[in-house]
Amino acid sequence: MSGYKFYEQVNKAFDRAAAHTKIEKGLLDQLKACNDILHIQFPVEMDDGSIRVIDGYRVEHSHHKMPTKGGIRYSTMVNEDETMALAALMTYKCAVVDVPFGGAKGGIKIDPKKFSVTELERITRRYTFELYKKNFIGAGNDVPAPDMGSGEREMGWIFDTFRQLSNDINAEGCVTGKPVGQGGIRGRKEATGRGVYFGIKEACSNAEDMKELGLSKGIADKTFILQGLGNVGYHTAMYMIEAGAKMIGVAEYDASIYDEKGIDLKDLMQYKNENNGGISGYDKATQLNSNTAVLEKECDILIPAALENQITESNAPNIKAKIIGEAANGPTTDVAHEVIKSRGALIIPDNYLNAGGVTVSYFEWLKNIQHVRFGRMGKRFEENSYKKILSVIETISDRKFTEDELAVLAQGGGERELVDSGLEETMVNAYNEINELRKYHGVDLRTAAFISAINKVGFMYKGMGIFP
Ligand code: NAD
Repeated sequence: MSGYKFYEQVNKAFDRAAAHTKIEKGLLDQLKACNDILHIQFPVEMDDGSIRVIDGYRVEHSHHKMPTKGGIRYSTMVNEDETMALAALMTYKCAVVDVPFGGAKGGIKIDPKKFSVTELERITRRYTFELYKKNFIGAGNDVPAPDMGSGEREMGWIFDTFRQLSNDINAEGCVTGKPVGQGGIRGRKEATGRGVYFGIKEACSNAEDMKELGLSKGIADKTFILQGLGNVGYHTAMYMIEAGAKMIGVAEYDASIYDEKGIDLKDLMQYKNENNGGISGYDKATQLNSNTAVLEKECDILIPAALENQITESNAPNIKAKIIGEAANGPTTDVAHEVIKSRGALIIPDNYLNAGGVTVSYFEWLKNIQHVRFGRMGKRFEENSYKKILSVIETISDRKFTEDELAVLAQGGGERELVDSGLEETMVNAYNEINELRKYHGVDLRTAAFISAINKVGFMYKGMGIFP
């Protein structure tokens, strides 16, 4: 990883796209700049009484819309450059899927596997306190979410810490990805993977585009290889398999495995959970000789869902997948992108494909500031209306609906159904928008997504003017 400059990689892709817009250089510089960068070092007491100094970061990339939004990563690889790059990607991603937030990102430089739960709680609460003191958290200014190494539990601690410090009536909206009992929303945990699935499905539903790749239309029977069986990777694989695709390879931090007959996701997950998050030693598939070897195996779709800088100039020439679905942030370097593109493969880029998480985070934030669950006001009203319509149909025809049919036909939208429908609508619309831009400008999807984002954010700045 040394020498790899993630923020520079993001800006290279930005510059390539900016050449297709009419925005002037000064404004483009402002669009790229990180508006606020925070690096903190704070002490935390360990269970044995010793004191550890922890490095934390929060970057608010763009204040063109408030609040800013982005996950908090718990990893030893966290640094300022990475946090800036991920914050910038959040701005562009939100714009691509029309989520009205600026981009942000946070990081805590630790390996969460090496701390006890009580230590992790103290680290998270102290980090939150630091963000609060510096005005880097709150429903109206900056709203964190989960990312690599963090999840619902950590978001619950963040919310609880914030609400102890603040009497903000919208305190619940200070963080998303919370457990449902603490103001979270049904469907958030699965959202990024669900969005990745919707994005790949939409790409595969375009017969003309698939023909160019030498693939048939649709997801069913396509083979895929996954890197990173975490929150995003697991849920992506689950929905892909449900839709009839076959998972033939998996890469984790400690090993990679392959089986052309298909790998049983539930069985592998159980093994992973019992083996410190690793898949080394799993004997129901072939173990390959390195933890990245499987990325180079023959498959229709390769889904990197772990971390950045995984498809590089050294392995890109050997990657055979016809579609790369970037579930992780920044998995493909700039040079590797060109290599894969020149081979004629389709890269569905991170700045679109993993936007399902922030989309449902947006729904959660809306729920929190509205103080009412989606569907609470309308579900029963809808159901009663459908029942009346169905009974009219029964009266004017000979058809009598069964209890089971009525249960399906007269179902109103509850929170889960509405979240899922809003997510699908968002991912489908955004895909078609960037695919049209791709064809119009004769560029790749990543560049098209950047063009879409630059135009949207640039247009907003032009309308607002520059203060003062
Ligand atoms: P996670 O911590 O739940 O899972 C990451 C998985 O990758 C783990 O299983 C881990 O063991 C594995 N991993 C770590 N290093 C690896 C390596 N070198 N090779 C192979 N596997 C490795 O994290 P996540 O939330 O699923 O995030 C994964 C990616 O998706 C990140 O790039 C993140 O920024 C991005 N993302 C996450 C969300 C979200 O809602 N969680 C939203 C958008 C984007």
